[in-house]
Amino acid sequence: MQPIGTLWVVATPIGNLGDLSPRAQKTLAEVELIAAEDTRHSHALLAHYNIGTRCIALHEHNEREQCEKLVADLLAGKNIALISDAGTPLISDPGFRLVRAARGAGVAVRPLPGPCAAIAALSVAGLPSDRFVFEGFLPAKSSARIQRLRELGGETRTLIFYESSHRVRESLADMLAVFGEQRSAVLARELTKMFETVLDASLAELLAKVDADSNQQRGEFVLIVGGAEEEGGDGRLAEGRRVFALLRAELPPSQAAKLAAAISGAPRKALYTIQQDE
Ligand code: SAM
Repeated sequence: MQPIGTLWVVATPIGNLGDLSPRAQKTLAEVELIAAEDTRHSHALLAHYNIGTRCIALHEHNEREQCEKLVADLLAGKNIALISDAGTPLISDPGFRLVRAARGAGVAVRPLPGPCAAIAALSVAGLPSDRFVFEGFLPAKSSARIQRLRELGGETRTLIFYESSHRVRESLADMLAVFGEQRSAVLARELTKMFETVLDASLAELLAKVDADSNQQRGEFVLIVGGAEEEGGDGRLAEGRRVFALLRAELPPSQAAKLAAAISGAPRKALYTIQQDE
């Protein structure tokens, strides 16, 4: 009997074509079929690596129908790769139904890890990364967005959001209204691309920067927000404030904030902003 095939879930670059791993290149070249979110979009990547494997479209509108056919192909012995337009499939991208159906049918589903915008942004954000929450895209409508943000108001883990260029300003403004001006945040834009920028500041400062420079509203974004202070908390900010107050008597504010942050573990920006507000 013919052995059944494998479904490879392959991460692809989020901007820089050089970020496709050698193992991903080999797998995409060797499988019999690639299920791609948008075949025309993926053509540029595949052409860059001279990969001529046949592609079919698997997107949110046809995933249900395609699943049945693809699982039948896998059971008939075909090896198939799943890719999305960018990054890791299933992460705010199609593929969940196919993976579930393949697993349900006893097909081996294997990851081929690589780029993911959320993880890339977190890795350079400088915000606590031991525990975090991935929220994907916020609702497009302001009322629903604010409601969602309110639900997250007390979340103490670092929050990661995806955002598009036409809503980044509105989302920042809503976050500022719900989480407060002082909450630390990072706006990671166009990662791995020519205009990559990573801004870290309080929400109030970030919004001001985005307002001052319309380029900061162009492209693709990951927005990362520091978690709320633990109630009664681990006391890092309180300790940071105490140390900062002592040092400020002797040192310039920026130096005092830097040292107080290093000693207490509190975010430097939060301490510096406290100083400006006082
Ligand atoms: N599956 C992808 C991943 O693994 O990151 C995410 C797909 S989701 C449809 C697209 C969103 O990811 C964009 O709207 C943006 O929020 C984020 N994104 C993708 N590429 C990015 C990049 N180069 N820089 C910043 N954010 C990016």
